Amino acid sequence: MAELRTCLGVLFLLSFSPAQAFGRITQLPRRTAPVGATSIPAVAAAAVRPWEAPAPRDPQPESRPIIIDAGHGGEDWGAMITGRYEKDITLAVARKLRDRLQAQGLGPVRMTRDSDEFIPLNGRVDETSAWGGGLFISLHANKVFRRGPHGIVVYSFGRGHGRGDRHHRRRRKVPPLPAPPSVQVRAGAALGVELARGLRREGLRVESVERAGYYVLKNPRTPSVLVELGYLSNPAEAKLLADPEYQDRLAAALADGLAEHLARQAPPAPMGALQAKAGSGGR
Ligand SMILES: [Zn+2]
Repeated sequence: MAELRTCLGVLFLLSFSPAQAFGRITQLPRRTAPVGATSIPAVAAAAVRPWEAPAPRDPQPESRPIIIDAGHGGEDWGAMITGRYEKDITLAVARKLRDRLQAQGLGPVRMTRDSDEFIPLNGRVDETSAWGGGLFISLHANKVFRRGPHGIVVYSFGRGHGRGDRHHRRRRKVPPLPAPPSVQVRAGAALGVELARGLRREGLRVESVERAGYYVLKNPRTPSVLVELGYLSNPAEAKLLADPEYQDRLAAALADGLAEHLARQAPPAPMGALQAKAGSGGR
């Protein structure tokens, strides 16, 4: 799109740290770090980031947690229009989505942040890998320089967005990530399609389902999507995004889409069970 999307752009400016640019990460963000401090320490170059380590053996993939990523946080407000902050909206919807997923018994759920704190982009990816995340959904809100655009945009990794990772990495200097393997790209795209369906079933307007090279979509082991929940630059939609009832609808629709996606991913019944069923049906 030709529009300058400032939602992620603001985060890029604020996520710079010389230590992060040249160091590697071995620890998860420290929750006790004061606002304004970098959450993740830089350490020796010999260390590996969680996604570089050998993948843990997991005989039960369905036990891998769903990772909910509330965009921005702390001194990184994200977009802000007339006192409405993107970081607050994303956290509110993330909490509601977590609660719904847990209430629906859709497996373990973890959040990259559950308070108003700053976490750099690479920290969000590392956290997801360290937790063995099965799915990753990053929540944001849009802002453009026109009041008209409205609706939800769902992104998965790809090269369809002109202002993707190349532009942003140059400005932010976070450790680079290569494109994820094709199996993760396909899985992320499938998740994005299912989330869009869930949102539309709820009667919400999905403006588009797109591809982009955003940093948090590059996790090599976790299918990842980024959802722009609406436009803060649209006055009517900004009012909705700050409304707890509308946030409930967004969370319900996203949970619905995730549930559908997980149902489609469920492994087929064991052969023994199928044979038993066929045998009982024939008698
Ligand atoms: Zn954002």
